[in-house]
Amino acid sequence: MINFENSEQGDSMNINKNFLDLKESYLFSLIGRKVNEYKAQNPDVEIIRLGIGDVTLPLVPAVVEAMGRAVLEMGNAETFRGYGEEQGYSFLRHAVCGYYAKKGVELSENEVFISDGAKSDLGNILDIFDTDNSVLIPDPVYPVYVDTNIMAGRKITFLNGNAENGFLPLPDPGEVYDIVYICSPNNPTGAVYTKAQLKVWIDWAIKNDAVILFDSAYEAYIQDSDLPTSIYQVDGAKQCAIEFCSLSKTAGFTGVRCGYTIVPLELVRNGVSLNKLWLRRQTTKFNGVSYIVQRGAEAVFTEEGLKQVKENIKYYLDNARIITETLAELGIWFTGGKNSPYIWLKCPDGMSSWEFFDMLLKEYGLVGTPGSGFGANGEGFFRLTAFGNRDNVLKAMDRIRKMRL
Ligand code: PLP
Repeated sequence: MINFENSEQGDSMNINKNFLDLKESYLFSLIGRKVNEYKAQNPDVEIIRLGIGDVTLPLVPAVVEAMGRAVLEMGNAETFRGYGEEQGYSFLRHAVCGYYAKKGVELSENEVFISDGAKSDLGNILDIFDTDNSVLIPDPVYPVYVDTNIMAGRKITFLNGNAENGFLPLPDPGEVYDIVYICSPNNPTGAVYTKAQLKVWIDWAIKNDAVILFDSAYEAYIQDSDLPTSIYQVDGAKQCAIEFCSLSKTAGFTGVRCGYTIVPLELVRNGVSLNKLWLRRQTTKFNGVSYIVQRGAEAVFTEEGLKQVKENIKYYLDNARIITETLAELGIWFTGGKNSPYIWLKCPDGMSSWEFFDMLLKEYGLVGTPGSGFGANGEGFFRLTAFGNRDNVLKAMDRIRKMRL
């Protein structure tokens, strides 16, 4: 820890002290340590990981072929490309608009910003907002929203997600905040907002001049045709919401890195277009995503590409179904797993998240993620993911069925 008392006021440089307010993220290091200790003591037990937050299937052929062609273009003087547009190549923004048109959402290419993934833009977008803005963040949730606001010193209020509201909290009509995060399908709970619920958020945001930062990183997992895969499928959203999406979980791009952010032209605050501000920010601080990656991303949105990525998503969702069927058999309460790769369960017998983690590891050789790592309201809950391989999921469920409840 740095000792500020010894630093001279006035003539010394200062770091951003907000960073000192960040909590150490012990979650994955503690999981790793406990698993390694168990392995050392039980070298013969095959440990199965059901907590993987990363995809395991390789890129689909349409993407590999497109990226291969792009590599050859880059090696040829006639077709070589240097810096691209900061906002992304028009061919990819056009493909994203086509994808949204199929959802019934009309976008113009200049509302689409190609990113190197949703995480970067979720953090970077805060550049265009005043640090005095108040922020509302659901709990439990993807921890990046919390930490990026702590870094900027913003005041955060948490909104309670719980079993009673299905981990889909709605705004308190009497409360006003400037920025609100919505993640649907949610990481870690797998819960998905309906159009009617999003309409409540949109009306609240318009009334209060708030901006919704809508994270749709898992939209491709939504199977129920009634559920919204974009907030812009709900009236009024273009006046109050920025949408962040990613090809990480849609098309296995976690290591390739590509996503897109939609900033509608209609979105205006203090008389200024947020689209213009974001473009200015991006042209100053970002030099775009590589041509090769953008050609791979374009291929995802072709008929063949979409068919191929849907097969991979089906594989993961079949894993999720196998897991949720087992939990239902055991009478364990859960959300998610149907329109999401995440399954969020209530730890049996009133166990805490870490007690359940220890029990699963020591008695069954299974590893998941304690819900308490995603916020105070995650205590007593546990996250399983569907990203593993089928044989392992089946083996893990055979072990779980033996659980004495
Ligand atoms: N948003 C949510 C809710 C996530 O769970 C993740 C990744 O786990 C991301 C965004 C980041 O995605 P990307 O790989 O596009 O940065």
